[in-house]
Amino acid sequence: MKDKRSPSQLEAVWKESDMAGGRKVDAMVMIMRTNGCCWVKEGGCTMCGYREASMHDVTEADLLSQLEQALSRYRGEPFVKIYTSGSFLDDNEVPPAVRERIFEAFSGCERILFESRPEFITEESLAHVPKTVTVALGLESSDPEVLRTAVHKGFTPADIERAGRLLKSKGLGVRTYLLLKPPFMTEAMAIEDAVRSARFADAFSDEISVNPLNVQRATYVERIWKRGEFRPPWIWSLIEVFRQLSGTVSARLMSSPSGGGASRGVHNCGECDECALAAIERFSFSQDPADLQVECGCRDRWEAYLRSEAMLGTPADLDRGLENDLALRE
Ligand code: SF4
Ligand SMILES: [Zn+2]
Repeated sequence: MKDKRSPSQLEAVWKESDMAGGRKVDAMVMIMRTNGCCWVKEGGCTMCGYREASMHDVTEADLLSQLEQALSRYRGEPFVKIYTSGSFLDDNEVPPAVRERIFEAFSGCERILFESRPEFITEESLAHVPKTVTVALGLESSDPEVLRTAVHKGFTPADIERAGRLLKSKGLGVRTYLLLKPPFMTEAMAIEDAVRSARFADAFSDEISVNPLNVQRATYVERIWKRGEFRPPWIWSLIEVFRQLSGTVSARLMSSPSGGGASRGVHNCGECDECALAAIERFSFSQDPADLQVECGCRDRWEAYLRSEAMLGTPADLDRGLENDLALRE
């Protein structure tokens, strides 16, 4: 199908809340259309649907016109997040001259955040980056085998650590993303992996954002999810990760799950999802484990789910398997 999107238009822009200078502030989020993540050409990560968002032949003029659109919506928010569905520091996505224009445009801003793969984080690429910048690094897991086989990330945890330490040595901020429940893991393994990964990331991160896997279109994960071989994590598992980490790491813990409460996203029984997600949001700002308090009968089901998975030795979607089986018997 022909892509009707214009390369000179921003993909999206919206306002939300986040933290800057230790307080909750308004943030503007802008999603730029670029030539896309370089890793997509190598097959991309198993859970990433950004190949859909990538375009071809986006020019400097296109990017500058996207910047103009963002500026027309900008109302002096202290925090600006610039997402490109790839790496902001990749010259093929955002040429250095455009990056400088963007930094100039938001020079009065207290905090700027963008994402980058570690290979683009070098002395040279950081030379013109202002001190207000935080770079978000997609570590996903500190286990090299998980990165290689389950995520197909194309770099190692050591590459992220190098990038994180370089950023810190330049006085820049680091927000590290972890992926809660890469494919092929049981729920219990996923909790353990996220906790271990956060402890690894803590050494070079100001913030650790735990992203529960959200099943995106046209991805490998979507294929196995459709076959019933993958269930997105329970919200209880995310709460458990924060409970175990709370008070034991110095980085701020946070999560703003995409697709939360839907069958493709992190979810519980459906009754308590909204309330459990609100608890996660409160905790992301307060860091107070008391904010994670949620009551619902499905917690027992989640515990039983963990036990059954361990007993059966499978990460398949047991909930769905059982429902299908009951439906067939009716
Ligand atoms: S998750 Fe990040 S690195 Fe992986 S394909 Fe998507 S944009 Fe690229
Ligand atoms: Zn529930």
